Amino acid sequence: MKITQHIQNAKGKTLFSFELLPPVKGKCIDEIYDAIDPLMEFDPPFIDVTYHREDYIYKQHTSGLLEKVSYRKRPGTVAICAAIMNKYKVDAVPHLICGGFTKEETENALIDLQFLGIDNVLVLRGDARKADAGFIPTPGGHAYATDLLEQVVNMNKGLYLHEDHEAYKTNFCIGVAGYPEKHFEAPNMKTDFSFLKKKVEMGAEFIVTQMFFDIQKYCDFVKLCRENDIHVPIIPGLKPITSSKQLISLPKIFHIDIPEELSEAVLACKSEKEVKEVGIEWMINQCKELVKVGAPVLHFYTMSNPEPTRRIAKAVF
Ligand code: FAD
Repeated sequence: MKITQHIQNAKGKTLFSFELLPPVKGKCIDEIYDAIDPLMEFDPPFIDVTYHREDYIYKQHTSGLLEKVSYRKRPGTVAICAAIMNKYKVDAVPHLICGGFTKEETENALIDLQFLGIDNVLVLRGDARKADAGFIPTPGGHAYATDLLEQVVNMNKGLYLHEDHEAYKTNFCIGVAGYPEKHFEAPNMKTDFSFLKKKVEMGAEFIVTQMFFDIQKYCDFVKLCRENDIHVPIIPGLKPITSSKQLISLPKIFHIDIPEELSEAVLACKSEKEVKEVGIEWMINQCKELVKVGAPVLHFYTMSNPEPTRRIAKAVF
């Protein structure tokens, strides 16, 4: 079922959902099930699975020569989605990225998803490879989420890359990313927002936000969207702080601010156990406020560690 339909069926009640990372290569699917099982009691109507582009690693040969090897650390997104739908009977939402795919490969991946009965996709540009200074599109692939979105929208109209006969119209419900604190590459909020608006005008049916720790930022973002004729559901992305080093790593990786009150509380902790408690408590309060302001879904970036999310969900739902 489409995410928009799940939200409509909930009739204003806030739903619970979460995101998982595929296990690193060499691990088995049980890692996914172990991350899902503790959260099933909160009745998620959908579960997201992230997609990770190939990166480069260097292998040293006995001669001393270094060989640059292309390597995907976390393969398996589509198969994991199929396994989730089969085992739990909930909708799985694969993240679909520009990086690492030609348009042809994207088309074939979308055909696979449609054959598997997957109704929703989250369309993203994708992160840059660690070895690259910025995002480099795959030759023959897409540079921005808008370009990838156009391809999915075209397939929903029956327009494939090379078919000249009338082709099957897929029916994907398409989500996109939104940044309450601006995407880090955008020169300003207005420019970034104009591209978000474009994504919605092109056919995106829901927005999932980057994580944030100040509910006012979400409220301002929703207000900005509504004032600018964006009326699709805006799903807040959430992650509790669980260790003191995240005070540095989260702003660095995700380009978000941590409110002074929260950072001071974390810095005042005497142990990592205490930090985790502070982070979970903060997120419980944040979630209760989000329910009050009518967030359609609380969507947790679990990083495949269900325990903090489970504690938050227990306190909120
Ligand atoms: P875009 O919408 O393409 O925006 C990228 C930048 O370009 C922005 O600065 C924007 O303002 C600008 N821009 C947008 N459109 C245009 C245009 N047409 N012309 C010129 N400039 C433009 N990454 C992964 O690799 N895998 C994942 O599974 C994943 N999941 C995510 C889930 C969520 C909810 C979020 C918020 C992010 C996720 N990311 C993931 C990270 C995401 O890929 C990065 O934040 C990436 O840098 C931007 O992706 P985007 O889809 O927002 O890009």
